Amino acid sequence: MFIAKQGKHISYIIGLSIYLRESMADSDSFYKSWEFQSFFKGASRSLILKADEPLFTVLAASDRYLALTHKDREEVLGNGLFETYPGAHSDPNEKYSVFSSFMRVIESGKTDELPIFKYEIEIGGTGKKETHYWTNVNEPILNEEGKVTYIINTTTNITEQVRQQHAVEESESRFRLMAEGTDVMIAVGDETGEAVYFNHAWEVTTGRSTEDLMKFGWVDLMHWEDRPRVLEIFTKAFEKRAPWMWEFRIAGAPGKYRWLMARGNPRFTKDGHFAGYISSTVDITDQKEHQQHLANLNEELHAINEELTVINEELQQAQDELVSSNQQLAKGEQELIDSKTRLEESEHLLKMAIQSSGLGIWMADVRTGRLTLSDQGKEMQGIPEDRELSLEESFLLIDELDRPGVTEALNTAIKYQGSFIIDYKINTLNTKTIKWMRASGIVQRDETGEPLNILGTILDITEQKLNEQRKNDFIGMVSHELKTPLTSINAYVQILQVDANKKGDSFSVSLLGKTAKQVGKMATLINGFLNVSKFEAAKIHIERTKFDMAELIAEMEEEAATSITSHKMVFEPVEETIVLADRDKIGQVINNLISNAVKYSSTGTTIQISCVTDGGYAKVSVRDEGYGIKKEDVPKLFERYYRVEGGLKGISGFGIGLYLCFEIVQRHDGDIWVDSVVGKGSTFHFTLPLLKI
Ligand code: ADP
Repeated sequence: MFIAKQGKHISYIIGLSIYLRESMADSDSFYKSWEFQSFFKGASRSLILKADEPLFTVLAASDRYLALTHKDREEVLGNGLFETYPGAHSDPNEKYSVFSSFMRVIESGKTDELPIFKYEIEIGGTGKKETHYWTNVNEPILNEEGKVTYIINTTTNITEQVRQQHAVEESESRFRLMAEGTDVMIAVGDETGEAVYFNHAWEVTTGRSTEDLMKFGWVDLMHWEDRPRVLEIFTKAFEKRAPWMWEFRIAGAPGKYRWLMARGNPRFTKDGHFAGYISSTVDITDQKEHQQHLANLNEELHAINEELTVINEELQQAQDELVSSNQQLAKGEQELIDSKTRLEESEHLLKMAIQSSGLGIWMADVRTGRLTLSDQGKEMQGIPEDRELSLEESFLLIDELDRPGVTEALNTAIKYQGSFIIDYKINTLNTKTIKWMRASGIVQRDETGEPLNILGTILDITEQKLNEQRKNDFIGMVSHELKTPLTSINAYVQILQVDANKKGDSFSVSLLGKTAKQVGKMATLINGFLNVSKFEAAKIHIERTKFDMAELIAEMEEEAATSITSHKMVFEPVEETIVLADRDKIGQVINNLISNAVKYSSTGTTIQISCVTDGGYAKVSVRDEGYGIKKEDVPKLFERYYRVEGGLKGISGFGIGLYLCFEIVQRHDGDIWVDSVVGKGSTFHFTLPLLKI
């Protein structure tokens, strides 16, 4: 480098040597001449030496050399070099000493270059020494025979360069020391983007040796998702020589990626040329995981927060409910106290009512058959107070005829979870007198629905029954007494009718016809009463015969055709329907229903009669387009003497027709009921079991 800079002078010197060789060979005077001396003063070469070893007399010296060696020209010129600078060029035997270099030039006739050497120089009489670095180039000047006669020495002080070099080396070694010792991944690239250095941390992280890293790089280890982004950042930054930064994942342990963050800074030479990047890369996996963890935590917190909000709302709601239920509780408590008081009062009232009503209380344990009877209950049945009766024993008091009815009532109540009221006769335990009882009962069950007890009341209705009986007997007697004269009246009217017909007395015929009708009505009425009394006295007899309902209804139709003109009578065709029943009484039932339909519907409307077979029964229906019956009246319709309240004016009756129908049908093991819509009409149905062949 130093030589190159001085190339101009070299060619001049070479030219000079040729001149010397040609004209003034071996002439010391040339170098000593004023012209040469003044030329050489400013030369970049240092010394012209005579090749008179071991002296090496100095013939010319440049100003720069003198300044470098802190000498005056007079001290140097004409003297042997090693006299002026004794020992300065070190041991003459030493390979790299100036002396040995001179000797090599003389021997070889060629330029000899010494390596840089250290030289301690005293600073101008201060006694202080300074380390200098010099380079030494010795060129031969040959005479015609090719013998070295002079030597041109160029001594250059390169102390500054060496120092700088040292500083660079030192900084480089410091950098390497630092780079190798850190776990930060450091890499250096050159101006073309090629990697020139990877530190040890790169090896540790990638598992690749420095050599492999230099050869193959590390881009292939990067997560494929990160590659395009990183390359784009790098390309853009590289174009602008700008710093860069990116985060990326690199394959670490198998199947595991580590997160890295890399920063690159451009390097520039002193003269401002881009020299490549130096990058530092740190492992941020933990931070990333931490970040992720934080994000997860955040999410969880968020979720928890939401849940908390919900819970809070629920809590608030629950609290509100609690407050209101507390209030309700307080209210309920007060109500409880009130109702307890009321209960006590009503219990007291009930007791008093029971006592005054003469009601007996009874309770039967369904499973054990144990019967508990109140004192009153015992008294009315003639049972001594200290005598306990089982349910079975108490059954024995019941009149034999009534026993099945009572048993059935109890069983039905148990089976259908219901209650019952039943009237029956008993023979009192002590006096064996006949008494009428009315027992009511309700079944008590456990939580599984199993019957536990039957609780109820028992009332002595003997007096009532006797009264009824008396009334019935009276009605029966009166009816009976009325029946005899009525039969006579009927007979007389018939005779008179025949007679009037004969005489052609149409007036009498008409009046007698009306009379006969009224007599017929009266007979029906009286018969009804008679029947009631008979039913009550259980004196009625059902005389079953086998007959065809179709025939019976055909008879009804015939009769209706002559007697009913006010309504349109429609008799549906009836197939043969054989039953075993009391023909007269069933006829009476149908008659009753038809006459009610006539009574309780407007003139001109239709009355429809049908008889069909339905599930082993013959079902007779009588439909009218009459006034209909209110729902609340329906259940009582078949009771004795029941007539709808505020009933239709001008329609007479005693409320015994449907009662008789009910009694008759029941005794035939059939059913009777009504479907009715107020204003539209009613349909009365009854069933009779078919004769099983
Ligand atoms: P009576 O007709 O003598 O009053 P019933 O026992 O025959 O007695 O009938 C009882 C009541 O039922 C009647 O008073 C009447 O209000 C009502 N009733 C009976 N049949 C009908 C019917 N076809 N349409 C409307 N109401 C009826």
